[in-house]
Amino acid sequence: MKKTYLFTPGPTQVPPEVTLAEASPLIHHRTSEFSNIFANFSEDLKYLFQTRNGEVFTFASSGTGGMEACVANSLSQGEKVIVIRGGKFGERWADICKVFGVTVIPVDVESGKAVNPVLLENILKKENDVKAVLATQSETSTGVLHDIAGIAKVVKNHNVLLIVDAISGIGVHPLMMDEWNIDIAVTGSQKGCMLPPGLAFVAVAPGAWEAVEKAQLPRYYWDFRKMRKNLANKTTAFTPAISLIMSASKALSMIKEEGIENAWKRHARLAHATREGVRALGLELFAGDDSSNVLTSVKAPEGVNIDSAIKKLRDETGVTMTGGQDALKGKIFRIGHMGYVNEFDIVLTISAVEKCLHENGYKIELGKGVSRVQEVLYKK
Ligand SMILES: *Cc1c(COP(=O)(O)O)cnc(C)c1O
Repeated sequence: MKKTYLFTPGPTQVPPEVTLAEASPLIHHRTSEFSNIFANFSEDLKYLFQTRNGEVFTFASSGTGGMEACVANSLSQGEKVIVIRGGKFGERWADICKVFGVTVIPVDVESGKAVNPVLLENILKKENDVKAVLATQSETSTGVLHDIAGIAKVVKNHNVLLIVDAISGIGVHPLMMDEWNIDIAVTGSQKGCMLPPGLAFVAVAPGAWEAVEKAQLPRYYWDFRKMRKNLANKTTAFTPAISLIMSASKALSMIKEEGIENAWKRHARLAHATREGVRALGLELFAGDDSSNVLTSVKAPEGVNIDSAIKKLRDETGVTMTGGQDALKGKIFRIGHMGYVNEFDIVLTISAVEKCLHENGYKIELGKGVSRVQEVLYKK
């Protein structure tokens, strides 16, 4: 019998109610029925981004499509941007910009560490004509949380756009679009939003429209101006991913019901318990004090082939975690705990980590991680 437990940093577990909504009979998108669902859903998305004044657009793509849309809509060839790197997703911002002929000034951060906003400040003071700063909230490849509030404070003092990849961070950590003055932010469906992959959501603040109008980069499907015009009429320019939007509408109503502040607190508590459980097994956190609540990245213990160990665990038990990517391959493993996750999921995951290590030659006292998790979660 096969049962799958997704504890990966995307895709994540989807509540049955959301799956059922996706299976609703298909309706046509040029109907008042769909328009109403879509308009309500687009309002709920504003809550997710904590914006009153911004507009949020839904694209049928993975998160990266949304990232490309951010670049294509706000910049022109030859313009200069600052990209905060320090992992695979920060690098992705830089790669997208380069493809479009945008000049990238990288701020390279050590893998496993968050950027110090002062570094950014220094570069902004030194460089003229910087058009935008592109940052990542939760760098999912390393498990690091960057201080977007701190970055935003620095960027605010310069006439520069702030564009944030909040793909894994949103719904897990606060992302205060209005309060922090973020110009454009993007997320994808399959992380904290408890949805299958396939949708990208991009929030655009009122102050960003001047740049969108001036931007010279080519865009057709991704054009924010088309999205805006159609959203005002409760519709979309092209055929929307109707079934996914039905499920997304359900997922967003669940987030609203819990209350996003409660979701932030739940993730903080579960992430803390996970980190404590891992430490109790004698393992070390890769991101240390900069750890995000989205996932826990753990240094692979000496003498264990971590990639084959977690693959074996997945094949035999269905419990799915992920290894490191690129330079971190074989060096870390990552436990996702975002979205549809509760305290028993953490007990289960740490129990699976114990099994995995125990069966692959790493000496642990069985139950030590689990009992630490229980202690953290249950003791008042
Ligand atoms: C998952 C993720 C992406 C990429 O999203 P896709 O949906 O795979 O295109 C980008 N940035 C971050 C921070 C992510 O976690």
